[in-house]
Order: sequence, then C-alpha cells, then structure tokens
Amino acid sequence: MAVSRSDTALNTSSHVISDDLLESWMRVQAQLSEELGETTYRSWLKPLSVINYSEKTVQLAVPTRFMREWVISHYLEDLLRCWQTEREEVQAVEVFVRKAPDVQQPSINADQAVHSQASRPASSRIDLSLAADDDILAMSSSLDARYTFDNFVVGKPNELAYAAAQRVAESAQVVAGCNPLFLYGGVGLGKTHLMHAIAWHIRQHDPERRVMYLSAEKFMYQFIRALRQKEALAFKELFRSVDVLMIDDVQFIAGKESTQEEFFHTFNALVDQNKQLVITGDRSPADMEGLEERIRSRLGWGLVVDIHSTTYELRLGILQAKLEQMPGIQVPPKVLEFLAHKISSNIRELEGALNRVVAHATLVGRAITLETTKEVLADLLRANDRRITIEDIQKQVAAHYHIKMADMHSARRSRAIARPRQVAMYLAKKLTSRSLPEIGRKFGGKDHTTVMHAVKRIEELKQQDHAIAEDIDILVRLIRS
Ligand code: ADP
Ligand code: MG
Repeated sequence: MAVSRSDTALNTSSHVISDDLLESWMRVQAQLSEELGETTYRSWLKPLSVINYSEKTVQLAVPTRFMREWVISHYLEDLLRCWQTEREEVQAVEVFVRKAPDVQQPSINADQAVHSQASRPASSRIDLSLAADDDILAMSSSLDARYTFDNFVVGKPNELAYAAAQRVAESAQVVAGCNPLFLYGGVGLGKTHLMHAIAWHIRQHDPERRVMYLSAEKFMYQFIRALRQKEALAFKELFRSVDVLMIDDVQFIAGKESTQEEFFHTFNALVDQNKQLVITGDRSPADMEGLEERIRSRLGWGLVVDIHSTTYELRLGILQAKLEQMPGIQVPPKVLEFLAHKISSNIRELEGALNRVVAHATLVGRAITLETTKEVLADLLRANDRRITIEDIQKQVAAHYHIKMADMHSARRSRAIARPRQVAMYLAKKLTSRSLPEIGRKFGGKDHTTVMHAVKRIEELKQQDHAIAEDIDILVRLIRS
C-alpha cells in the first residue's frame, strides 16, 4: 500500500504524511483553484488539509462541521476527480471535522477505517464501484453552488425562462410540451445559472432522479474520448440511463458532424423513453447555423424560451440581491443606479463591476462613492459607452433618410419607409450582437424572418446599387463615431 505510516503516528493526533501525498495534495489544490476560481477555492477548499491515504481512500479534514457539509455537498466530486488525475486508483474521498468532539475522528488504522464506514453518512463517500450514479456524476460538469433558484432574480426579460426551469425541476416526470426545454439568449443572461438551479433542485428534492449536466463542448470531448478508448457503447449506455439530461451551449456542436450525430441519437433515445431534456444555446434553433435540419427541428419540438436582454429594473434588482450577500458592505443607492444604468451589456459584466468596486474599497479602506466607482471602472465604462445600441442605429438611419423614429417601429410598407427600416435592421445585425428575434422586437415586434429577409435584401442591394452601398458606408462611420 502506498501509504507511509509510522507506529508512533498511530497513537498521536499528528499523523506522519508522506511527502508524496502532500505533493499530490498541492497539485490537487492548484487544479481546484484553477477550475473553481480563486474565491471559491479560498473560502472552501484552502481550509482543507490532507490527513491520510489508505485503502484507495483519501481523508481530508476541515475546521468546522458546517464546512464539512458544504464541501461534501458541493465539492466532493471535484475533489475525487482531481485526486484521480493524481492517482488513478483513488476510489473515495472522505471529509472529517478536525477536533470536533461530536464527530468521529478519522482512524488511521486501515482496519478500523473500513469498519467504521457503515456508521458514516453515505454522502461522505463516492464509491465508484457503485457504478451508474457515480459515473453520471463523474461525467457531469461541476455545479456552481451560487447558481440556485433562490439566487436568481426574476424580472420581465427572464420570467418565462425561470418559470419553465422551475416547472422542469419540480416535476417528477417529463413536463408535457416542455421536452426539450430550450433556453436561449445572449451571453451572461443566466442560461447556465438556470440549468444549475434545475440540477441543484432535483439533487436536493429528488436524489433518485439521475441528472446529468454538461456543456456541449464536454459532451463532444467525452464522446471523442470514448471512441478513442473503444468505450463508445458504455458512453451511449451511460447517457441513455439518465432521467434528466442538460446540455449547455449547444451551438458548440453546430458544424461538428459526428458529435451532432451522436447527440441526435442520444436525444431521440431519451425522448422516446420519456426522459427530460434541457438545452441552451446562444440563439434559437431556427437561427442556428451549421445544424442538421432534423436536429434543428427536434430542438424546437418542445418549449423554446428566449431570455431577453436585461432591463434597468432587472439590473438594479440583481445588484441589490448581490449586495445582500455581502454583509457589512455599504454601497450608496446612487452607485447601484449608476452601475445598472451604465453596465447594460450582460449580468456577468455587471456582477464583475460590482465586485471590482467592492474589492477596491475594501482594499484601500475607503467608502464607496460615485467618484471612486467611476475611477475604478473607467475602462469598463468606456467600453460600455462605445457599445452600439439598436436605438443608436435607428436614430442615425432615420435622420439620414429623413424619416420619423416612429417609422422604425411601424408596419408601413411604402418603399420610402420600408427601405430605411431594412437598412437599420441590416446594420443592427452587423453592428450589434443582438439576435434576429431581439432585433425584430426593437422594430415594433416584427418576426425574425422579417429581419432575416431585410438583411439578405440589403446585402443584395449593396452589390447592385451604388447609392445604397454608399449610404451604408456613411451610416456605419456615423454610428461608430
Ligand atoms: P449565460 O450562461 O447565459 O452566459 P450565466 O448563467 O453564466 O449566463 O450568468 C452569468 C452571471 O450572471 C452568473 O454569475 C449568474 O449567476 C448571473 N446571473 C444571470 N442572471 C441572473 C439573475 N436573473 N439573477 C441573478 N444572477 C444572475
Ligand atoms: Mg452559459
């Protein structure tokens, strides 16, 4: 056995730990820090220490009972996985509380350790020999503990997505009309958050239900690996054994044929067995390029929900909610309003901005004011100011063609108005990252096919009509300036 142990250690509380083990632990820690981020790592994983390794089981200790629970429920899989990259043979990770009288101290005697396992909560171990469920855990991407329904702020732009996600999470069976549930929207609008929330909810309330969550990217790599290692059959079986399959960022497999093929078969097998699927993408199935037609149509079978870009109210609500989770930090309402107003691109950036302001204030020990906020975020604010909005485009185009701003939203079809409107749609597609349906909405609730048609039409006209090509050149320069 690859454990160094001395007789004296058996009778004392300080065990002799081999340098090898310590070195492995340091590498595991480094890996965890990189994967989970510095903040999570510092709060939950850094306080862990390795105390023993025997019987293919790594034993770790934490200072408090609460931490033990948290680490077990949130990071045990990650710990196990990282240990396995260090030492293939590791089968379990156990977590103990250091010097807590009411909790069993770890035994460093191998025989005793084996005997005492029955009395420990089952959740403190992941035993790979138990197969299926643990294979599912191993295949799944890890879940962010902060991404729960409780931490999700609901507003107009995301209320439907939130409600649908909750329905899926709470229902014991597949939800009629919601299979698959397809959530789409731009980056940083909460798609991944909602998926993790579904997984957390099910793991907590219905642990028998097997949930697998992974990015489409990971799906592809695992699939390729399975093929290479001639384990394609096991791969297929594993995926077909889950009750809820969630694939994040499905746009990743667009254009990747064999992965699409495998995904399609998995998808069909699960739907046929009445299993729930939840999928996210950066745009609707209809707008996704590089997808096979049959996959596109299958993705659109269930409920397709659009997460709209944020509103000022939602951004403010999110900032307030985040602030509540930072006890003792004072941020003037003016600053929150300023941030909600200025950082409108996405929620990830908004959170990042708040964190930066708070971190700066804590570091220099000064109160947060509007001035310090502007200072700390100067670069970010400049970037957000430069970002082109659909309204900017509409204004410039309306002025250029001498039509009213209201005509951008109207349904009038006369050429003198319809053409500039098409130009504006075309520019919105080219100069912003908005999706076709989002652009349609900004033009008085038009269908995405109308936008698509406008983009194609203007592209054609640019080739044929010199005047239009020139107009567009001028407009782009005006809008960008
Ligand atoms: P996406 O997957 O759509 O790119 P994420 O789910 O990763 O976006 O969200 C980006 C960040 O914004 C995450 O930290 C997430 O917790 C946060 N976030 C997004 N939407 C909300 C919301 N409605 N309430 C609270 N936090 C949110
Ligand atoms: Mg995401």
